[in-house]
Amino acid sequence: MGTHTQRVTASQRGLGRPVRRRTRTFRPNYLSFAGTYQCNLTCPHCCVPIEWPDRLDIGVARRFLEDAHRYGIELIGFTGGEPFLYPEFLVALTRWAAELGFRFDKIVTNGVWHTSRRQLRATLRALVEAGFTGKLGLSVDKFHGSHTPQLAEFCRSARAIFGRDNVMSLSHASRRPDAGLEPVQALARELDAVIEWSDLLGRYLLVSRDLTMTLNWNHLAPVERAERLVGAWDGTWFAEDYCEGPGQALIVNPNGEVKPCCGFASDLDQLTIGDIHRDTVKQIVRRAHRHPYVGKVFREGLTAIRDEILARDPDALPGATSNHCYFCWHVLTRGLAEHVPGGGGQIGKWTGERPNYQGELLQLGIRRGGSDRRPPVANAPGSP
Ligand code: SF4
Ligand code: SF4
Repeated sequence: MGTHTQRVTASQRGLGRPVRRRTRTFRPNYLSFAGTYQCNLTCPHCCVPIEWPDRLDIGVARRFLEDAHRYGIELIGFTGGEPFLYPEFLVALTRWAAELGFRFDKIVTNGVWHTSRRQLRATLRALVEAGFTGKLGLSVDKFHGSHTPQLAEFCRSARAIFGRDNVMSLSHASRRPDAGLEPVQALARELDAVIEWSDLLGRYLLVSRDLTMTLNWNHLAPVERAERLVGAWDGTWFAEDYCEGPGQALIVNPNGEVKPCCGFASDLDQLTIGDIHRDTVKQIVRRAHRHPYVGKVFREGLTAIRDEILARDPDALPGATSNHCYFCWHVLTRGLAEHVPGGGGQIGKWTGERPNYQGELLQLGIRRGGSDRRPPVANAPGSP
């Protein structure tokens, strides 16, 4: 979620649900819906197939939400595409989640989807009335383009309508936490705000008279449209984190497919662990445990996968990378992981023409052999 994918850290979200035995395993504590893939922007680093028209059916999503509640998941967020292009989904799911007692994480948004101030305010008001108590996670970086006045309008309206100075957080994608802050600085100027470092939080804050936004950094992963960006093999191996932050989630895509994480590789079919049209949460978690790749990531870690690949062929990888999700995406698309087919990304998945949200036909990806077929889902042996 993909998405203006914003990695959620473990400290922001809490660790996964406790398990009876002290073992590492996939134990999701977070539910995220991407109601639509479509977006009003076309950022060069986007890893979402924004030209796909699929939308999650509200009734089907509600059923899954209730199932997740029974299962014990308590935290919910929304991503996309641009979630505000499907506001009726956001509002309906928010209302039911609030009634069920869910805590709210972020709605990830580019903040510039509105065509008028009136539309913006009416949509935000409907969210407040539905009971949304989370944050609006604004993606602001050079990839999203320069939309400073419209972003500032979004911030001021959200502050006024939600009546909270902490209703927003910021997210920027770059190579280093302190790089690529220029668009955030421009927004700060527009809002008459300053950017300060917080030792306590270990991150930057944008602070104005009536707004305080934390700035979250996303390690830029040059995948999908951004494949031509170089530098991901930066010579340093990632530190194992068992995907506790971005993973331990049930991310529901607009076509109903469920992924275990909101990492940059999560749109790959190889990470599909179920479908809300036919599976229960229990079945999906069980399948994740047995999944030849997902199960191993959460049980043994990415380093185990890396070591297995290098033991088989010391030259299988072009170098070392500190970016977990980039590594994941590389080994999955190239078919380097055991028992998982390769494919996807620019080397084979998003092919063929698809209408975007305005009905324009877009062509992304490289057409291979005239085929528009997607690679098979990597189901674990014996899974339904
Ligand atoms: S705002 Fe940009 S990164 Fe986010 S979904 Fe739209 S095109 Fe992709
Ligand atoms: S490394 Fe892979 S499994 Fe882990 S969060 Fe990133 S994309 Fe997901």
